Amino acid sequence: MAGGKVYLVGAGPGDPGLITIKGIECLKQADLILYDGLVNPLLLEHVSSEVERTCRVAEGCQNRRVLKQDEINERLIAAAREGKTVVRLKGGDPFIFGRGSEEAAALREAGIDFEIVPGITAATAAAGYAGISVTHRAHASAVALITGHEDPTKPDSSLDYEALSRFPGTLVFYMGLHNLKHIVSSLIEAGKSGDTPAAAISRGTTPFQKTVQSTLKGLPESVQNAGLVAPSLIVIGECVTLRDQIAWFEQKPLFGLRIGITRSEDQSESEIQQAIRLGAQPVLLPTIEISQPADWAPVDQAISRLKDYDWLVFTSANGVRYFMDRLWELGLDSRQLSHLKIATIGPSTAEALLAYRIRADLVPPQYRAEALAESLKPLATGQKLLWAGANRGREVLITELAEVSATVDKIVVYENHDVSAWNEESLKLLESGEVDWVGLSSPSIARNFERLLTDAARAQLGKSIRLASISPVTSQAAQEAGLQIDVEAKDYHWDGIFTAIQQYAASGP
Ligand code: SAH
Repeated sequence: MAGGKVYLVGAGPGDPGLITIKGIECLKQADLILYDGLVNPLLLEHVSSEVERTCRVAEGCQNRRVLKQDEINERLIAAAREGKTVVRLKGGDPFIFGRGSEEAAALREAGIDFEIVPGITAATAAAGYAGISVTHRAHASAVALITGHEDPTKPDSSLDYEALSRFPGTLVFYMGLHNLKHIVSSLIEAGKSGDTPAAAISRGTTPFQKTVQSTLKGLPESVQNAGLVAPSLIVIGECVTLRDQIAWFEQKPLFGLRIGITRSEDQSESEIQQAIRLGAQPVLLPTIEISQPADWAPVDQAISRLKDYDWLVFTSANGVRYFMDRLWELGLDSRQLSHLKIATIGPSTAEALLAYRIRADLVPPQYRAEALAESLKPLATGQKLLWAGANRGREVLITELAEVSATVDKIVVYENHDVSAWNEESLKLLESGEVDWVGLSSPSIARNFERLLTDAARAQLGKSIRLASISPVTSQAAQEAGLQIDVEAKDYHWDGIFTAIQQYAASGP
């Protein structure tokens, strides 16, 4: 066997949470990932490997080279021969209408080691998210997975519609949308009742899922009226009526909305997950990048003189992480802080400390530098404070505490840099007004967001795109930069942004 290895991995149907744990482990290990057009790119946000998208059909394959199946096989074999760990990531399950077995056969023939990692296939996933159970004790004791797109090189239809019309259970057609009229008329001609309940589910398990429910004979017209797009699944059988009672996914509070996340990319994981949980599609619009400081020396010196201080102050979760990690890297640990009182600017900063099993002594009632200074004044009069913060930020603490003869030494434990441009896909969504909301979570993010806007994107503000701000300070910065804020969070963190959007969506402004 050659040195490398290929994993044929099912990515699931669209919701990035529907990949298996084993699939995620493969992604983490991979040197090269080849993924097909159906795979949700959000899955690849956090992998460091080389990533390439392959498309076998030109449709929906913007600006990318269309690869034939042979070429994909050759790429897999060549990369494995170089000793690479390769993941071939395919929508749904690799062996359900995925040509995964052809890839496996080519690998075996070439003597390349491989493994198959099954995935959740569209039939069970899209149906489940549409509230349709494809088997049911009362309605369906079998389910058939059928291709609605037969190999065009075959002379005759390989589908036996007579047999399918007699099939005692649910029929699920993949790749059948463009062929729908033919499928429906063939089934009815072969004896299936035109009144059989039927549904089409488009873009199942994504925030853009759309379900059309009808009868078999009425389905083509209903699908056309609703303007369904690929990928879509056709489900035929009594079980479709279960949806009336148990549909759930399309009722999520932010279902179908695209929400721009403006935090730095390596910090937006929890906001991405939260958007998805609420039924929305996160759009990554990072405005700043976070990195370690150019020079650790001042931090290291301060750490060596911690004994001189009475207080340690954190004004962001990043400050906590970079400071605590540096302490650790220097071979020290939290015992160095035992004599210090610790102040944080707000609940998420305090929460970041909890990860290091440290409780904050002071969390002011309001998430603002002024409130922190006010709370500190009576407690820190005449004392020495060490403030672990960013290269940028307001200096309110220093000036305010000087009033009570307290000295604040600031050390830069991480740096904030402005992003110079957004990725093409996110920008396109902004310019076409397809982003519904953008969350602005700090004054510098608000200013940067404004700076990164193109004219076309700016023209969509107030029309298609609405802005949600995390706090009054951020709203003010946004307004000074010329942005109109539509809603403001009551709790000054990202959950507050989502809640404000939810309230707006439920009741209007
Ligand atoms: N291997 C994939 C199927 C690939 S064939 C799997 O196991 O799911 C492509 C077809 O799958 C599409 O034409 C469509 O019929 C179906 N499909 C894939 N993703 C889908 C989705 N999110 N919603 C509805 N149908 C989907």
